[in-house]
Amino acid sequence: MISLDAARRTVVQGCSPLGPVRWPLASCDGCVTAETVHATDAVPPFANSSMDGFAVRAADLAAATDTTPVALAIVGASLAGHPAAMAVGPGECMRIMTGAVVPAGADAVVPVEAIVGGQWPASDDVSPVFVAAPTQAGAFVRAPGDDVSPGDVLVGSGQVLTPARLGLLAGAGLTSVGIHPRPRVGVFTTGDELVDPPRPLGPGQIRDTNRVMLLALVARYGFEPVDLGRVPDDEAALTAAVKAAVQSCDAVVTTGGVSMGSQDLVRVVLDRMGSMSWMQVAIKPAKPFAFGVIDAGGSGKRRVPVFGLPGNPVSSLVSFVVLALPGLRRLAGHGDDNLSAPTVQAIVDGGLHRTPDGKLHVMRVVASVGHDGSHRVTSAGAQGSHQLGVLAAANALAMVPDGEGVADGETVDVVMLDAAWGRF
Ligand code: AMP
Ligand code: MG
Repeated sequence: MISLDAARRTVVQGCSPLGPVRWPLASCDGCVTAETVHATDAVPPFANSSMDGFAVRAADLAAATDTTPVALAIVGASLAGHPAAMAVGPGECMRIMTGAVVPAGADAVVPVEAIVGGQWPASDDVSPVFVAAPTQAGAFVRAPGDDVSPGDVLVGSGQVLTPARLGLLAGAGLTSVGIHPRPRVGVFTTGDELVDPPRPLGPGQIRDTNRVMLLALVARYGFEPVDLGRVPDDEAALTAAVKAAVQSCDAVVTTGGVSMGSQDLVRVVLDRMGSMSWMQVAIKPAKPFAFGVIDAGGSGKRRVPVFGLPGNPVSSLVSFVVLALPGLRRLAGHGDDNLSAPTVQAIVDGGLHRTPDGKLHVMRVVASVGHDGSHRVTSAGAQGSHQLGVLAAANALAMVPDGEGVADGETVDVVMLDAAWGRF
């Protein structure tokens, strides 16, 4: 048996970032950048108002008080997208709306709520507005470049694109960005006993639970799922399925057929087709695991990682999360410190009991955040590798080291199944 860390290293070493390519911004959420983007222009590009109100000259209001308000003549309006043609002179002001250019001559904005009466005068009202307090030059004015200055780094290479970063790039005038593309991950399941819902079960048959589960995992972790169907336990069929899969996908995930049984042919077929590592990983569940890289041929000499996960549903999910995911994230361009699913330390309620067997036990737990902000976990129930019901009741995986388990009140590392990554 090899340790989980050693198995993970083999996987990550066999995977290299895809691309780079340029994609339209709207397609890039969650992708890792392959370039550093600098701003060429200032944002905002001009001084503009942060409030609806009146553009004024602060010096005009220096003596304004409750008892001696200053009258300002309204000489025009500056609307968002429609700058005023004229300037504001001494004793004058201009209606101005949020985002509109602060007109020449003006250096501050008095919000409409702050003028005497607190209301907009009618548009045909030519009488002055009164202001009963001084203001500072720059009040309610957003200076050019106070968000972004020319030369600023908008995103660095190797950063994860978020909605806000995409907005920032659009604000700098970009329509596309250099990224590592989201890997297309093909999933097929194997096993002559499997039928697709809603077909009734014949003798010895069970329903295929892994395909929908893995396709959902692939999508949930930000990759592009490709449903490659179900393949019988037959060497020729499996060989054809893998060949087709590596042509159309950047990575392939299979379940079943990697154990010691006479019909465990995925291992045999993958071994023949590529440089496979068939591993006995010191974890429970999910001890058998096959990983390798298959040459998809073609001009670019594409080498496509294939992850052969065990068939038991809990083993499939666990090995996807702890072994396949880091490799897929490397394909997507993530750095070494950002490959594994987010882990927290949690206090165990009620203990997580196990017996020593030389393996790390990946136990299904329910995690919650206590009143004091600490993470707490409790067992989700029976820990059989076929018991999808208990996995479905869990939201986290506790990594329980070899030994007698973790006692009530002690801490354990927990992989959250629904948490956001810390680094981006
Ligand atoms: P295998 O890894 O092919 O030996 O399968 C191990 C166990 O997982 C067997 O009990 C299989 O019937 C079951 N199994 C394999 N694939 C699936 C699947 N896609 N959905 C549900 N159970 C499966
Ligand atoms: Mg099987």
